[in-house]
Amino acid sequence: MRCAVFGCNSDNEKKNRSEEEKKIRFYTFPKDKKQSDLWKIKCCRKDNLNAATLRVCSRHFTPEDYKRNLQHELLGYSNKKTLLLKNDAFPSLFLPKQKTTDSEEQEERTKRLQKRINKSVVNEILEGIREPLEEDVLDEHTSANIQRAL
Ligand SMILES: [Zn+2]
Repeated sequence: MRCAVFGCNSDNEKKNRSEEEKKIRFYTFPKDKKQSDLWKIKCCRKDNLNAATLRVCSRHFTPEDYKRNLQHELLGYSNKKTLLLKNDAFPSLFLPKQKTTDSEEQEERTKRLQKRINKSVVNEILEGIREPLEEDVLDEHTSANIQRAL
């Protein structure tokens, strides 16, 4: 079976799997509709997926996504096969790159804001409303323009 995450090539039917690949586990989609939809989103697949037949491989889960099995821990089992996912776990690692992440968006917003600040500061300085201050955050280009204008 193959992993449903777009771009992931985990496949337990593949021949000549490496030792690392042999350790990969495959998890069925959650029964909960909301949770299952979240998994679909994380898989980044545009096609209409039938959640009942889908599997997501263990590469996409963090250690925190797994339920602790105290019985096994006490007995010293380290068998990965016994690992179960928590009910609220969802794929979060090795996912396809999405268009914009929250942090990129944030960065873009900061840049835009910065530009606006530059502009108003420049206008004030040019209009003689005030002197340039050291704490004015101006990029090189803007500073050069002011120098020229003054
Ligand atoms: Zn995968």
